[in-house]
Amino acid sequence: MNNGTRVEVINTGSELLYGQVLNTHLKFLAESLFPLGLSIQKQVTVPDGPAIRFALEDAFKTADLILITGGLGPTSDDLTRDIVAELLNLPLEPKPEIESYIAERLTRRGIPISDRIMRQALCPKGSRTIHNEFGTAPGIYIPPILLPNKQPQFSPHIILLPGPPRELRPMVENHVVKLLSEITPRTQRSMKTWRVIGTPESVVEDRIGAELLGLGVELGYCARLGEVDIRIVGSNEQISKSEAMILEAFGKAVLPKSAHSLEEYIVTELTKRGQTLATAESCTGGHIANLITNISGSSAIFTHGFVSYANQAKEALGVPSDLIASNGAVSEQVAESLALNTKRVSGASFSLATTGIAGPTGGTDTKPVGTIYIALSTPEDRCIIERHRFHTDRLSFKQLASQAALSLLRRVLIETQINAS
Ligand code: ATP
Ligand code: MG
Repeated sequence: MNNGTRVEVINTGSELLYGQVLNTHLKFLAESLFPLGLSIQKQVTVPDGPAIRFALEDAFKTADLILITGGLGPTSDDLTRDIVAELLNLPLEPKPEIESYIAERLTRRGIPISDRIMRQALCPKGSRTIHNEFGTAPGIYIPPILLPNKQPQFSPHIILLPGPPRELRPMVENHVVKLLSEITPRTQRSMKTWRVIGTPESVVEDRIGAELLGLGVELGYCARLGEVDIRIVGSNEQISKSEAMILEAFGKAVLPKSAHSLEEYIVTELTKRGQTLATAESCTGGHIANLITNISGSSAIFTHGFVSYANQAKEALGVPSDLIASNGAVSEQVAESLALNTKRVSGASFSLATTGIAGPTGGTDTKPVGTIYIALSTPEDRCIIERHRFHTDRLSFKQLASQAALSLLRRVLIETQINAS
């Protein structure tokens, strides 16, 4: 096989297609194969039964390596080994060492030995078994064999793996990876992902896509609400060049490697500095506090999370009622007052406040639905106020608004870091 090895995965099991069990094998196999320079080109899931045969026939035409999971057990719906043997025209032969292994495992557990269970020791002639530490059915590797009168003339490498994840995973980690590195040449490829906050996918692509592709890398995007991951696959040199380009284009909007999310970054950074945060949220309804407290260790930095939704709640924190009356609850002035009062009441180093119109009702000409004011008060009693507009459904609004608030805090943290150093 060369490094253009075409790997195809067939997952068998009716339960996967009835929605009873989530197919976790695909992700696990893809992650295990990647370091070997192998990437999966195609995957199909088929129910137990004749569909396995059709999927194999298809894969025989195009694949260099087929990984097929499930259906190696002792029950009547476990047909994989029979179908593979039949397609390759290979007889099934009992492997004495597997028979003794099965007999020993069953005896230890007091389970009676039956023909049905011993079926699991049958393997296609010329195949190699792969040890199963956690079950009775071994994995099976069948090297390419000549298929007379067929195109292509040789069968792909075929590896049969057991269905249960607790059997498949250790088998792949302990044996299959080694086997694959013997039968496929290793190519040096790495993968790296950068998370860019607050820039839409299409803008990211416009700004940097062509330049990155010019390096000859494989480029992919994974967009979520308010953030996008840029994924690069290539040599180590290509990856460092890509990183330099991405950092130059997006700088502070790129999350550092050490943090998986904005909130994780903030908890880590404030803990490092021995500083704290309090929030007063109106339109985000506690979502910022929720995000922060999802992070383990947040108790070291998070002091108070007020949901100051009604005007009385804002006033209870110290926002003057005439300030609300003259500017409206959704205003720069109220956001600022909320942030300053929250810092005073909580004694925290930073405070974040939000006030806005999530919609769908309540907008005006000057403050349309989706308008939000975010105020951040800093340890030096500086108050930074931002106005944004996120015109979307209520849940997405809360998410985008919370992310904007955390981004503001992150930018200030980065600035003060730069100033201190
Ligand atoms: P057994 O000896 O248990 O019958 P088997 O090799 O015949 O093993 P299956 O019968 O296909 O495998 O699957 C056994 C169990 O493993 C299933 O009930 C399911 O819970 C789990 N399983 C199978 N395939 C997958 C998959 N793709 N992702 C996650 N779990 C799976
Ligand atoms: Mg089974």
